[in-house]
Amino acid sequence: EPVLEARDVAKHFPVGRRGVVRAVEDATLALLPGRIVALVGESGSGKTTLARVLARFYPPTSGEVLLHGRPAGRRGYHGDVQLIFQDPFGSLNPLHRVRYNLERALRLHHRTRDRAELERQVLELLERVSLSPAADFVDKFPHELSGGQRQRVVIARALAVRPKVLLGDEPISMLDVSIRLDMLNLLARLRDEDGLALLYITHDIASARYLCDDIVVMYAGRMIEGGPKEEVIARPRHPYTKLLIESSPDPGRGEDDRAVLFDGADELGEPPSLVSPPAGCRFHPRCPFAMPECEPSPPPRTDLGGGHWAHCWLHQKGRAGELESTTHAA
Ligand code: SF4
Repeated sequence: EPVLEARDVAKHFPVGRRGVVRAVEDATLALLPGRIVALVGESGSGKTTLARVLARFYPPTSGEVLLHGRPAGRRGYHGDVQLIFQDPFGSLNPLHRVRYNLERALRLHHRTRDRAELERQVLELLERVSLSPAADFVDKFPHELSGGQRQRVVIARALAVRPKVLLGDEPISMLDVSIRLDMLNLLARLRDEDGLALLYITHDIASARYLCDDIVVMYAGRMIEGGPKEEVIARPRHPYTKLLIESSPDPGRGEDDRAVLFDGADELGEPPSLVSPPAGCRFHPRCPFAMPECEPSPPPRTDLGGGHWAHCWLHQKGRAGELESTTHAA
């Protein structure tokens, strides 16, 4: 059973005179215990907005968020769902030591008052996130810690609440490259030990490939493809996902073979404005396979078997084979 679900969620933000940013449209997603879903896309694709709707920082414009199958209410919500932000430097109060940050979460969510018990739980949390020996970290201020250590404290604080769901919004992107793998391994261990449902938000398909069980790809506010990781990576069934994978560094491929999707000078152009997004398939101005049907009509979801799905007219028009036989290398 899903712990947390988004059903047909949309989130719009009014801007200027009568303008609306359509940040997320028709988002449907289920997070299951013990599984990691990667939500992948360029900046501006709507993935962070969706995470904030799931974390109840924003109400959805339409659609609903269900926790344990019931409409999510405010009361007790953050006891079950915790959001980890990208920036470990801004996530901790610089005036308080690590001990205070963790004790506060334990007091608020579990009403733990006993001093010895608080100390025991604080040290245990630090050990769980591999800040060991915990006694060396518990009295430090955030500025005395590295970025990776701060992010571990942020994760420990989230765990203090004993959540069922962790939403990680680019949790490694501001960390030194040398410690990113350690952080991904930590998240995987927490999934295994606690049976957490984890949403891992990233623009980096390589880290999604390493960590997650399932991948959902967003483009311009819409989910365009999803399914088990092996399926999506090995046989992407949407042109954007295919370009995303081809543009991702791969040790087995030379740099010259990479498609250049995210370079502003690239012939494929920029992602669209979400104030006036393209009609029909939002990828059509950049899509090498675009056909007349793509502009007026949003492509329906095609279920491809094994939990793999995509929104692309190629599947409805019997042209999916072209996608598999083409490489768009720069
Ligand atoms: Fe390209 Fe059309 Fe598929 Fe959109 S629906 S990705 S424009 S082929």
